[in-house]
Amino acid sequence: MSFKELHLSAPILKAVTDEGYTTPTPVQAQAIPHILAGRDMLAGAQTGTGKTAGFTLPILEILSREQKPQAKKRNIRTLILTPTRELAAQVGESVKTYGKYLPFKSTIVFGGVGANPQIKALNNGVDILIATPGRLLDLITQRVVNLSKVEIFVLDEADRMLDMGFIRDIKKVIALLPTKRQNLLFSATYSDEIKKLCESILKNPTIVEVARRNTSCELVKQSVIYVDCKRKSALLGHLIEKNRWEQVLVFTRTKHGANKLCEYLQKMNITSSAIHGNKSQGARTKALSDFKANKVRVLVATDIAARGIDIDSLPHVVNFELPNIAEDYVHRIGRTGRAGNDGEAISLVCVDEFDYLKGIEKLIKIDLDKSIIEGYEPDPSIKAKPIQQGRGGGGGNNRPRSNNSAPKKRDGDRNKRDRNRR
Ligand code: AMP
Repeated sequence: MSFKELHLSAPILKAVTDEGYTTPTPVQAQAIPHILAGRDMLAGAQTGTGKTAGFTLPILEILSREQKPQAKKRNIRTLILTPTRELAAQVGESVKTYGKYLPFKSTIVFGGVGANPQIKALNNGVDILIATPGRLLDLITQRVVNLSKVEIFVLDEADRMLDMGFIRDIKKVIALLPTKRQNLLFSATYSDEIKKLCESILKNPTIVEVARRNTSCELVKQSVIYVDCKRKSALLGHLIEKNRWEQVLVFTRTKHGANKLCEYLQKMNITSSAIHGNKSQGARTKALSDFKANKVRVLVATDIAARGIDIDSLPHVVNFELPNIAEDYVHRIGRTGRAGNDGEAISLVCVDEFDYLKGIEKLIKIDLDKSIIEGYEPDPSIKAKPIQQGRGGGGGNNRPRSNNSAPKKRDGDRNKRDRNRR
C-alpha cells in the first residue's frame, strides 16, 4: 500500500515524501481510512509504530477538506492531549512537519516553562493545539483557551495518562468540548480503567490493534557485555571510541548516575548531556535537540525522562545499568530499531544485576547473546551486592544459566561481533 492509496491530498503527500516515507506503517494503513471516514477510534499502538503520523495525517486532511470560512481569529479545531512534555513537543513537531505545506497553525502548551509565549501563540489563533493536561487547564482558567469549536479530540498514550493520575484533568477537559466531535484514543494497554475511559469517550469506535512494542524488539540486535560495575564507564567510553558511535542513548537507573556518567564521558572528550527529572524543562529540551542535531554524541537518560523520546534511526542504545523493572528494558530498547530501521541495544551487566537479566530474558523470551571485552573482563572474585537505588531493590548473586550464558570474548569491533539478530 502507498500513501497515495490512503487518499491524502498533495500537500500532505509531499510532506510525507520529504520525510522519506514510502509506505505507511501498519497502524497508519489501518487507522487512516477510518479516521478520514470520521469514525471514533481506539488504537492499541505504542510509540515507535508510526502512530503519530497515523493520526496527524488524516487530521490534517480532514481540516483541509473542511476549510472553514476565515473567522476573525482561528478556532482550535483539533486538541491533542499527551501525558508528557516531551511527547507534546514531539507530536507538535510532527504536526508542523506533516502540515508544512498547509496553512494551519499549531502550538504546544505544557508546564515547567513560562506561560507567556504560549499565551501569545494562543492569542494569535491556532487550529491545532497539542497540550499536557495541567497547563491546558491553567490556560482554560485564564480564559486563554476556548475549546468550544474542537472537531477532533486525540488522547495520546491514554494508559500513561491514567498512570500519571491525569484522569480528573482529562474529564475536566472533555467536559469543555462540544458533544459532537470525533475522538481518537491511543493506548498501549487495555486495563479496565482504559476500557471505562473508552466507554465514556468513544462512540461506536473502530478498534485498531498493531503489534506490541515487544515484537519491535525483533528489529533490534540485542546483546549483553559482562563487566564489573566499577569499569562500566571506562568500557562505555572504549566502545564509543572504538566503534565510532556518533549517536548513543545511554540509560542509567538514577539521576545521580546519569550526571556522573555524563561528567566521565566529557572528561574523555566524548560530548554528552544528561536528561532526567531534576533538569529544568529548558535543559531537557536543549539536551534532546542537541542530541538529535548530532551536536552531542551521547545522551544519558533515566527511564522516566526518556519516555516518548523519538529520534529517527537512533542506532545505539546502551543499558549502562539494567532496569529493575523488566518491562522498562523493552521500553528502552524500543528507542532504537524504529519504523523499519535496524538498531543495536547493548547492556553492560555486572554481577549485581544477574537477577534483573534473568527477569528480562524471561519477559522477552530471548536468550541474549553474551560476551566479555578484552581488557574489561569481570573479576571472578567480586561477589554480588544488593542494588539499593531505583524503584525496586534486590539484585541477586546467582549467575544466569541460559543456554548461551558462557560469554564469548570479543574485541569490541561491532563488525566482528557474533550477535543474535533478533
Ligand atoms: P511514532 O510511533 O509516531 O513515535 O513514530 C516512530 C518513528 O517512525 C518516527 O520517527 C517517525 O518519523 C517514523 N515514521 C512514521 N511513519 C513512518 C513511515 N511510514 N515510514 C517510515 N518511518 C515512519
